[in-house]
Amino acid sequence: MTKAKKIRPVYMDHAAATPLDAKVLKAMLPFFDKTYANPSSLHSVGQEAGKHVAVARKEISAILNAHADEMIFTSGGTESDSLAITGVLEAVPKPQLPHVITSAIEHPAVLEPLTDLERKGKIELTVIKPSKQGIVSAQEVVSAIKPNTVLISVMYANNEIGTIQPIGDIGRALLKYRSEHKSALPYFHTDACQAAGYLDLNVEKLHVDLMSINGGKIYGPKGTGLLFVRRGTKIAPVQRGGGQERGLRSGTENVPGIIGLSKALSMADGSREKESKRLIALRDRLVEGLSKIPKSRVNGHLENRLPNNVNISFMDIEGEAAMLYLDAKGIACSTGSACASSSLDPSHVILALGVSYEAAHGSLRFSLGRSTTRADVDYVVREMLPIVEMLRKISPVSLDMSHF
Ligand SMILES: *Cc1c(COP(=O)(O)O)cnc(C)c1O
Repeated sequence: MTKAKKIRPVYMDHAAATPLDAKVLKAMLPFFDKTYANPSSLHSVGQEAGKHVAVARKEISAILNAHADEMIFTSGGTESDSLAITGVLEAVPKPQLPHVITSAIEHPAVLEPLTDLERKGKIELTVIKPSKQGIVSAQEVVSAIKPNTVLISVMYANNEIGTIQPIGDIGRALLKYRSEHKSALPYFHTDACQAAGYLDLNVEKLHVDLMSINGGKIYGPKGTGLLFVRRGTKIAPVQRGGGQERGLRSGTENVPGIIGLSKALSMADGSREKESKRLIALRDRLVEGLSKIPKSRVNGHLENRLPNNVNISFMDIEGEAAMLYLDAKGIACSTGSACASSSLDPSHVILALGVSYEAAHGSLRFSLGRSTTRADVDYVVREMLPIVEMLRKISPVSLDMSHF
């Protein structure tokens, strides 16, 4: 990583983190040092802070077409997912062994708590495989329901390959099942962390009971998030204490964070259509350019995916090596998911598509964002080919296949 030559910085890792929007920062600032009182305090300065939290709650609930008392503010996507899973399993009337249905391409924030509970013998778990295109079938999910099923958790859009899941279809089929069986269960949770910037968050159209969103993926502050909990849903707190957030998430409210999350979500909501259209054109240009490289293939459905996601495998190379060479050219992208990138195991999402270990190892994710330009896309396409060619020449994967 030589400093001698000036390199063009191109950030294509928006699925891992987005920059804080300047308007969001501006909205947050007064809540650090001016309106800093505890919103639960009864004095007027505390009530002033509380008023702003209430306004933010209302603004967000309008975007979700929900009620203000259905918003539980958390510290991010991971906490929201954990609260949804652990909280529901704790609170619902227990069959002998509660059954949970999820998909093989969930974020670790959903998969890890579920597989942990399964390992401990506390739940029975069904993991639905996606199609080769990375889409989970609504029919398959609903067919997996058993009398002891208490929870279904399927993500709205995948963080690695960007594929959009049929949440509305699952929700509708589930409503039918529940009315036929005269049961409030199973509940339906969706992790919408990647979807929030681009897709419709109307919970009445999605028919979800629980939905996770975070701020750090939508140009808001990291360490902020929320869990939508539909009125009447049985759920227990994970974190107990002062009883904030209707007793479901104790701890002094992160007032600047809540204000920032609300501002970021409002901005995303306002620019959703226009920005999606702009990014789809750039995304498809990047796909077209990179697909010209021999022995490459895009992972995940080509159209039914987020406007900002390109995930592509190059045979006979290691994604990690390619990522580092791109980094030296100023290009930031990722392999697998950022959360799992400290391990060299191939991504569970790419493997779930039924591709070979080899193709999974050679996968790269480029996630575009508000700052992305056509020139950025063309720069990445230009730099990628020589890197792939050079890595293929030295690749141990192409020489030694004995471990397969
Ligand atoms: C980033 C992400 C999470 C984790 O969110 P944090 O705010 O980092 O805790 C969960 N699910 C998905 C789909 C994500 O992309």
